[in-house]
Amino acid sequence: MSQPGMSRIFLSLFIFLFLLISCSSPTPPALPPTETPPPTGTTFPTEVLATFTPTSFPTLTPELERPQYVLDLQINYSTKAAVVNQTISYPNWTGETLTDLVLAVEPNLWTGGFSLKSLAIDDQPVTNYMMGNSNQRLEIPLPQPLQPSGTIVITMEYGLILPQMQAYSNPNEVRPQIYGYSDRQINFVDWYPFVVPYVPGQGWLLHNPWFYGEHLVYDTADFDVTVTVTDGTQPQIAASGAEVKPSTDTTPEGVMSRRYVLEESRTFAISMSTDFKIAMQMVGDVTVYSYYFGFYDDAGEALLQTTAQALQTYSDRFGPYRHKTLSAVQGDFNDGMEFSGLYFISRDYFNLYKGTPENYLVTIGAHETAHQWWFDAVANDQAIEPWLDEALATYSEVIFYETVYPELVDWWWEYRYFEFMGPGKVDTAVYDGGGQRPYWDSVYLTGARFFQALRERLGDDIFFAFLRDYYNQYAGRRATSADFFRVLREHTAADLSDLMMQYFKNTY
Ligand SMILES: [Zn+2]
Repeated sequence: MSQPGMSRIFLSLFIFLFLLISCSSPTPPALPPTETPPPTGTTFPTEVLATFTPTSFPTLTPELERPQYVLDLQINYSTKAAVVNQTISYPNWTGETLTDLVLAVEPNLWTGGFSLKSLAIDDQPVTNYMMGNSNQRLEIPLPQPLQPSGTIVITMEYGLILPQMQAYSNPNEVRPQIYGYSDRQINFVDWYPFVVPYVPGQGWLLHNPWFYGEHLVYDTADFDVTVTVTDGTQPQIAASGAEVKPSTDTTPEGVMSRRYVLEESRTFAISMSTDFKIAMQMVGDVTVYSYYFGFYDDAGEALLQTTAQALQTYSDRFGPYRHKTLSAVQGDFNDGMEFSGLYFISRDYFNLYKGTPENYLVTIGAHETAHQWWFDAVANDQAIEPWLDEALATYSEVIFYETVYPELVDWWWEYRYFEFMGPGKVDTAVYDGGGQRPYWDSVYLTGARFFQALRERLGDDIFFAFLRDYYNQYAGRRATSADFFRVLREHTAADLSDLMMQYFKNTY
């Protein structure tokens, strides 16, 4: 993993050596030409070139394949205030010269929630950044242009004041808010500034928040996160990544510290509670965790089992799960939400659980698990093309039930559509949803009907061969609707024009 204390010289050396060996190794499609000199202008002694052998280097090359986030989170559990030291090593694989960076800073959507104490680029302090009040956009003009294939290191220190969570949707159809604290839980989701994707020819990709649905788009990145609870509280911690042992663990003063790593993922979420109980089981070499509040043992175990069964089902059907752990977490709010290697599921589904799989605890558990394939691995623009992850995650529920509880497939089609008000177009953007219910009906439920119709048209063999291929081609990348249909047409020459007309507003 990343070396946060690495000096600039070493980093430059690193980039230079990577450029050298990348000439002889397979080049990912997005990589720009390798002729570009290292960006920092450091001169290298010729001895380095003479003695360099590629075989001594392979453990270091992944450093530059994607952004690296090193986060040191110090949280006072009692006061709900945190200090974060953060380092982002950002390689420029956009193919263009960058003169600024745009970061999404979601905690700054809450007035007073985010305070930037220091910011530096390649160790040079930067003060001419732009960030409005209660605004998620942080723009940083670069001291020097960042050439294609160059890397810069952004270091920052900031404070977070956590907001109180909002457990329920409000009358304006604003969805529950997960980031923050409740009486028995603290959730860190989209809690650190991250560099948003850059689309060549278009620019930085940061959409406005909307009343419902998700608006963020993520590059793939590696994470190395240390969580220290400074006030002596010792909560259980659920995290997106695998814990690194031995941890610093607890000091004699009772300060708890844990370190986690997560590679090739989208976002790093953390949930902590002094009320969590934990159940776990292995699925192959993946550890599955269920974190739930006391008195919910039956539901907590059912969630563990569901997550494990879904993980197995989707690994068989779509392709391998990409991380070492997967955590299902009882959220102290009325919503389910996916993050990399971790998802939340509503406390209300725990309350409704009656000991059978005919329940939203199991249905939504299967849905959120599917997002590890359709969101984390194959990413998409969640605001403009939400169907790519949501319709697929919803239809994955069907695949889960027909595999694990085949007698309940008919039940699923009835239960899931109980509040369905009518079909809409599958490729609806969050901003065009017309309200939360119509949005769900169009993107999730009409979307699942499209996948069923497509499967009936193609037959199971072609349908699943297509899904596997789509996953295989786009895992670690961001897919568009056009990408989806390009891969589909590689698997079938069938006339799909009637389905396209019925289910989609655009042509692909
Ligand atoms: Zn979903």
